[in-house]
Amino acid sequence: MEKTSKSKKRLKTAKELNKIVTEFYLEGHRAKEEGKPVGWLPVMIGTTEIFYAMDLQPVFPENWSPVCAAFGLTPTDFEVSEGMGYSQDLCGYLRNIVGYVYGLMGKDDVPLGGLPEPDIIFSGGGGCVPAMKILQAMEKRFPDAAHFIGGIPQVAPEKIQRHHIEYVKSVFTRLIDFLTEVTGRKFDMERLREAVRLSDRACELWDEITSHRRFIPTPISAAEIGIMFVMVTRQGTQIAVDYLEKVLEEVKERAAAKIGIIEDEKIRLFWDNIPLWYNMGLFNYVEKMGGVFVAETYSAAWSIRLDPKDPLEAIAIKSLMSYPLVSCTSTRKRKEMVLKACRDFHIDGAVLHRNKSCVPITLGQMDIKRALMEELNIPSVIIDADHMDERNFSVAQFQTRMDAFMETLLEKKGLS
Ligand code: SF4
Repeated sequence: MEKTSKSKKRLKTAKELNKIVTEFYLEGHRAKEEGKPVGWLPVMIGTTEIFYAMDLQPVFPENWSPVCAAFGLTPTDFEVSEGMGYSQDLCGYLRNIVGYVYGLMGKDDVPLGGLPEPDIIFSGGGGCVPAMKILQAMEKRFPDAAHFIGGIPQVAPEKIQRHHIEYVKSVFTRLIDFLTEVTGRKFDMERLREAVRLSDRACELWDEITSHRRFIPTPISAAEIGIMFVMVTRQGTQIAVDYLEKVLEEVKERAAAKIGIIEDEKIRLFWDNIPLWYNMGLFNYVEKMGGVFVAETYSAAWSIRLDPKDPLEAIAIKSLMSYPLVSCTSTRKRKEMVLKACRDFHIDGAVLHRNKSCVPITLGQMDIKRALMEELNIPSVIIDADHMDERNFSVAQFQTRMDAFMETLLEKKGLS
């Protein structure tokens, strides 16, 4: 196995994703050429629906980082940001985007044409400290862009109260006024309602697709997680709904015909934490021993249903809930979610990625490890790596640990 590799995707619809990714970035460049305002936004927050409803162009700097990892741009980006004093211990998304905007941005030959410059920057809050810092760093790099600070609070999902929701609704009301003023575009609540309805439909489809992981053999695996791109960038659009409907149809057909991701599925694995974007091929590594990565934690943030009756309330709840569902804002909630996924998807073993450049999602893993064994009798293994920085990943160590782990699991099931 190489240090960097792409995953093998078995779904036809997963292979169609490249077109959707390319079109998203081209749309950003077209918007710039046509004078449509471009906003740089955090992911997982209701600003996406507001931007699509107001016919503004959203761009997600955090999401650009996995794209850079897939295209092999990260070593260059890290060199630039580390040269500026950003420590190797910081989040890889932060280091990568800072390196990109001060280095490769605007140069020829950047895949997909790179990112269009922002006219608006929304520093939302709500996520972890690096997620907030990404947009603050962008403000320094693009001082001419109009800047809005959201200040959305970080609250554990089980502690969200009415006043939190009302506050975030007021943030979005202020944002809409701000966008109206700086862009001259009119806001129409009915268009936002429609965007929220489409987001809700996308979440419903997403849930239905991922729930098919309960089938044995599984018709979809973690190697297909790239599908999540539409949940990150295209919420609130028909594009996401149309694509996910096609994915669901294919997954349903495979489940009905008992067509698994691999021919002879023996061991079902769970991946905790963010995948290694520069080496998605490691999801295929265990296949030679009958292993398949059935599910992962990272996709959980998109399971929030939105009620279009009150669109502002719906996006306020989404903005408060999405990030805490995948991070350690509530370690109790995160543990519950991992255990539930392992139970629902008939998992035999869990791989806990101890992610050097994402502390928020790594915290609490020892508790999860203990609970998996004590409550579900599911063994787990810890893999030290980094979702963005290949310097913190050893292929040899990964292979040795996974080989031994797979042997243990096969023996436990009487299949060795
Ligand atoms: S959650 Fe992790 S990967 Fe995402 S911005 Fe925060 S530190 Fe970085």
